[in-house]
Amino acid sequence: MKVGVLALQGAFARHAAVLTDVGVAPIEVRTPEHLSGVDALVMPGGESTTMSMLLDIAELRQPLAERLAEGLPVFGTCAGMILLASSVADGRSDQESLAAIDMDVRRNGYGRQIDSFEADVNVGGGGLPGWDTPFRGVFIRAPVVERVGDGIEVLASVDDNPVLCRQGHVMVASFHPELTADRRIHELFVESA
Ligand code: GLN
Repeated sequence: MKVGVLALQGAFARHAAVLTDVGVAPIEVRTPEHLSGVDALVMPGGESTTMSMLLDIAELRQPLAERLAEGLPVFGTCAGMILLASSVADGRSDQESLAAIDMDVRRNGYGRQIDSFEADVNVGGGGLPGWDTPFRGVFIRAPVVERVGDGIEVLASVDDNPVLCRQGHVMVASFHPELTADRRIHELFVESA
């Protein structure tokens, strides 16, 4: 399986390193040609307004929207999650969302005072195989999930806010799983892709 990492901006290099660790050779995606060669895609954290603009400049928005509609497995983290959400509050007016997962998010929704923090993320309430210990989630100016649609599987919440969700082939995390040594979240994505 060829797993791409959207490499326009943000934390793509760390994601690529983690994918290598979990046994897949990552492909950096910067052009429509790169995108057409991958079977799954990671959309990293960074700055969603900039990434949204770069998607247009690279002429990737339309081909990406088409691949997503066809069921391309995708994992969006932080800014990547913002780009995949159906509605974004406190975004920039020209920021466009791919609306691939039925949820509303608020950019920088945890506020300035705690704009970065760590928290234990209990995937599946700790009851799934391999998830008896929590994942240490690093949140950096993270989006808050304000609404999830009926079809959304909430895999983990922190203080009643969903932080790891899945809808079919689309998985999103509001934190940065590439920044810790724990590889379980990437394994979860690769196994289900
Ligand atoms: N606040 C950033 C944004 O709006 C996301 C931060 C992140 O990806 N760590 O895009």
